Amino acid sequence: MNAEIIAVGSELLLGQIQNSNATYLSRELSKVGIDVYHHTVVGDNQERLMDVVKKGLERADVLIFTGGLGPTKDDLTKETVGEVTGTPLDYDPETEARIRDFFATRKRNMTENNRKQALVLKGAHIFPNDHGLACGMSLEITGKQLILLPGPPSELIPMFETYALPFLLKNVHQKEEIQSKVLRFFNIGESQLVEKIDDLIEQQSNPTIAPLASDGEVTLRLTVKGSDDKENERLLNHVKQEVLGRVGDFFYGEGEENLATLLVKELSERSLTLGAAESLTGGQFSAALTEVPAVSNVFNGAIVCYSNAVKETVLSVSPRLLSEEGAVSAACAKQLAENVKKALHSDVGVSFTGVAGPDELEGHAPGIVYIGIATQHTTEAYKLHLAGSRENIRDRSVKYGLYYLLK
Ligand code: ATP
Ligand code: MG
Repeated sequence: MNAEIIAVGSELLLGQIQNSNATYLSRELSKVGIDVYHHTVVGDNQERLMDVVKKGLERADVLIFTGGLGPTKDDLTKETVGEVTGTPLDYDPETEARIRDFFATRKRNMTENNRKQALVLKGAHIFPNDHGLACGMSLEITGKQLILLPGPPSELIPMFETYALPFLLKNVHQKEEIQSKVLRFFNIGESQLVEKIDDLIEQQSNPTIAPLASDGEVTLRLTVKGSDDKENERLLNHVKQEVLGRVGDFFYGEGEENLATLLVKELSERSLTLGAAESLTGGQFSAALTEVPAVSNVFNGAIVCYSNAVKETVLSVSPRLLSEEGAVSAACAKQLAENVKKALHSDVGVSFTGVAGPDELEGHAPGIVYIGIATQHTTEAYKLHLAGSRENIRDRSVKYGLYYLLK
């Protein structure tokens, strides 16, 4: 089964708004294993919209429309779908009552235009709108499902989640079970990773392997379709092992667990506490770590030591080290890690010092970052050469810190 998403609205073609509805719908459909083959954008123009509906009916099993359900003259989606499929429009009594109610409680007059929002395609299944006036609907025509949803994301998203997706899964997509697994990688770029498993991606049709890069991490989503749960699990594990055989060195976790969650889990399991000295990350490491709910057992705290004076006075980095080696150095990262460990009475200390940019510092280019890690037995420093904006460099530093601590 495949779907086409048809976004209706001239403001999309004028570049005034982004087609975030299509992005959202595609993402949600892919999660349940419905393939989206086309995104179409069309203006508020009846003739062109008619062409789009006809084309969609030729090539897709499910057509999902967003926008153009409102009361104004340029809202044409229902009318046009009705025209192409030969379906008349009819008032839906429940929606009409809800609209009447809406205006009555606000002591406002309901115009004929407002009433028009209760017009639905005859025979369609109705999706109530809990956050606005226009209802959504699904019409079946010769085995194809046409789903009409409102344009505003604040109305579309809840309507899709609550009504349209369950309807789709129940009525159209019930035959196949979908299972998926997300594998998470770090310290390798998307293109590098894909290159190493290119042939697997090409060959695989069940499960499919879909790479996604975001925030310096790469994930692979393995999705399998089939009616036998055990067989699905076996297929997923088989592909997972093949993938890890190639790129296992960069694999760090599965599912929704990110680096911070895993680190907290690891520290808890080993009953270790952590303290941080943050120079270029300015508290971002602590922010990332404290997003994890159970972090209080393992994270003692952090000292933001942005200036050299604070490195020296609060964290006892020797003045000689600062003048000879500089703050951006392995030696400084190590001292910071060791001293913050002591100062915060933790078992492990981590430190971040480096150049976030855009300007050079101590003769080092932006992106040179040292991460120090002091444990009960050893102290190490890692040097990074990061590229990108100031924001990127700081974000990546945090991720690498979590990653090295995990290793
Ligand atoms: P309304 O009843 O508000 O008129 P509608 O269903 O008629 O809703 P449109 O008039 O097409 O929808 O769009 C209303 C608003 O919804 C747009 O101004 C825009 O802010 C948002 N919107 C429409 N389409 C999209 C889209 N594809 N992605 C993101 N936002 C959208
Ligand atoms: Mg509108």
